Amino acid sequence: MNRDRIVIKVGTSTLTNELGNSNLRTMEKLAMVLSDIQNMGHEVILVSSGAIAVGANKMHMKEKPTDMRMKQAAAAVGQCTNMFLYDKFFGYYDKMVGQILLNAEDITQEEKKENLSNTFSALLEQGVIPIVNENDSVSYTEIESEERLFSDNDVLSAVVAVLCQADKLVILSDIDGFYDKDPRLFKDARLIEQIDMIDDAVYKLAGGAGSRRGTGGMRTKLKAADLATAQGIDTIVTNGKDPEILYKVVSGESCGTLFKGRR
Ligand code: ADP
Repeated sequence: MNRDRIVIKVGTSTLTNELGNSNLRTMEKLAMVLSDIQNMGHEVILVSSGAIAVGANKMHMKEKPTDMRMKQAAAAVGQCTNMFLYDKFFGYYDKMVGQILLNAEDITQEEKKENLSNTFSALLEQGVIPIVNENDSVSYTEIESEERLFSDNDVLSAVVAVLCQADKLVILSDIDGFYDKDPRLFKDARLIEQIDMIDDAVYKLAGGAGSRRGTGGMRTKLKAADLATAQGIDTIVTNGKDPEILYKVVSGESCGTLFKGRR
């Protein structure tokens, strides 16, 4: 059996429900499935966003904050809540988790990149499941810039997958995969099972930013897939509603959309 190193990304729309509260059932199930997959001999890295939405909800902010200082404050609170829940849920299955918060410069500067890569390998060696997020409370380029650098962690998950030389990147979304047009707008949209080349024609199929709670939309998932597949990493975009779908991913069954690694 293949023993893979797998990076899994979950977005805000998977981690929170319609009311903006934490989706405990999904989080707990995700922890169970990832723990089980680790028990099967795979190495698992989780990239999780959702800190701003969860914090804003906990702080009783009426809407998702738009000004920077409130966003960063919400991220500080929400990150804590998410990690507390993860630690608890993974703890049920006797797993250790470790938090890694990243800024853009941690990846672009060679020395920092090397340190980071060493940290990941030490954590994995120790059987720890690293849980990665943008350091939203400290940096603002990621939250604010027009083409946000990591864009709701889609691109961050690809950067982490490349840094850790992962075998697979799985982006869990609120939709079953990549369609030939935005299924929320077009009833006749059809799921594309495999994409071998991400070119302009493919980018044209992605609509604008996605759901109210998610922020990246399909465009940033394509960017992530482009980055990872260029380094030979198979990238799968699929629905995170039921995390058990990850069993299919590890056994190589088709689910969602596979962007085939290019070397
Ligand atoms: P997440 O929080 O899971 O990252 P997003 O809301 O950021 O979710 O992105 C997923 C959304 O992207 C879908 O719900 C859908 O409305 C939108 N979308 C736009 N174009 C497409 C497409 N071609 N295929 C699938 N979804 C698309």
